[in-house]
Amino acid sequence: MTYAPVSADLAADLITLEHERGTHNYHPLPVVVAEAEGAWITDVNGRRYLDCLAGYSALNFGHRHPELIAAARAQLDRVTLTSRAFHHDQLGPFCAELGDLAGKDMVLPMNTGAEAVESGVKVARKWGYEVKGVAENQASIIVAAGNFHGRTISVVSFSDDPQARTNFGPYTPGFRAVPYGDAAAIEAAIDETTVAVLIEPIQGEGGVIIPPVGYLKAVREICTRNRVLFVADEIQSGLARAGTTFACDHEDVKPDLYLLGKALGGGVVPVSAVVGDRDVLGVLRPGEHGSTFGGNPLACAVGRTVVRMLATGMFQQRARDLGVHLAARLATLDGVVSFRVRGLWAGIDIDPAIGTGRHVCEVLAERGVLVKDTHGSTVRFAPPLVIEESELDWAIDQIAAVLRGETL
Ligand code: PLP
Repeated sequence: MTYAPVSADLAADLITLEHERGTHNYHPLPVVVAEAEGAWITDVNGRRYLDCLAGYSALNFGHRHPELIAAARAQLDRVTLTSRAFHHDQLGPFCAELGDLAGKDMVLPMNTGAEAVESGVKVARKWGYEVKGVAENQASIIVAAGNFHGRTISVVSFSDDPQARTNFGPYTPGFRAVPYGDAAAIEAAIDETTVAVLIEPIQGEGGVIIPPVGYLKAVREICTRNRVLFVADEIQSGLARAGTTFACDHEDVKPDLYLLGKALGGGVVPVSAVVGDRDVLGVLRPGEHGSTFGGNPLACAVGRTVVRMLATGMFQQRARDLGVHLAARLATLDGVVSFRVRGLWAGIDIDPAIGTGRHVCEVLAERGVLVKDTHGSTVRFAPPLVIEESELDWAIDQIAAVLRGETL
């Protein structure tokens, strides 16, 4: 069957079809995207919206950045997939260039963020048994309450969000949760079975929760002193969003493993990676881990371009500069109970009396600004880093109008 519109309202038609034939594991805003460029999205009716979500930071460089599209096109004309049964001419350079950006020896390429997390967990456990000498099948990993690391069974096993967990058991054992931002709690939870501490340097899904100053440094120091790996999930916080290449850079901290994804694929293809030194990633040997698509030529060609773009520092600088402006303007808005800004990334807690986060997002969409709510009354604001200051101002003007209760 080939799809043909059944009514004059194409958007409504497509939403109905998606609802009837697709699973309901998301609750999208009623906008049907047809095209996008830079910070702007056009729907099937030709209406334009300013994208202030940026694919949960997968679109840090904007939609269809010309350099990324050129790299993808060039690679499409050469070779797209080999599997890892053979070598190809993009993988080595990708690993070397990304490793250099992170100041690490080695890269384990995967596809999605959750896969990078799973891979990091596997590597940490293997390191625990083979290098640290943890007793067989006893390895434990310390995680933070309120985390979000993806949707696979093992990953939801250490989530404390009932929506993510309920009726997906039995859960993978070997994880202990402690309060986020509390370094002493991490130290207290460490025992002879502990192989890693896995945290987000900033909790994105949690509502852009920024830990107390000194937390990341303390985690680094505790991990080093106890011979435990520090695994930083920078899938959302990394690659310029927070105003630095990695959010850990804010405290001059280097984790043992970086987990990267989202923007690593430039919003073009799924690309994720675990990045670390040889003494950790070196525990993997042939046949022990892999993925048919992980490290494919198309992904590597796009990933290399992302790394080249990040190496200029331009996107990090833009995120910092625009973030200062964003914070100054948010501070003046009525109806904002509190907000947190790091780089061009904000969690904005709306006065619940004004409406739910969902309601605010729906009204904002009507005004041409696309954002997404999280945890009730929090709105996550993370536009592509290519957004102009005037566009940012316009988006904030729309938020201000919605908070004042203005309708269209
Ligand atoms: N880790 C973090 C911090 C994330 O924010 C996400 C996605 O939002 C993931 C992991 C999972 O990434 P993916 O959806 O690509 O599996």
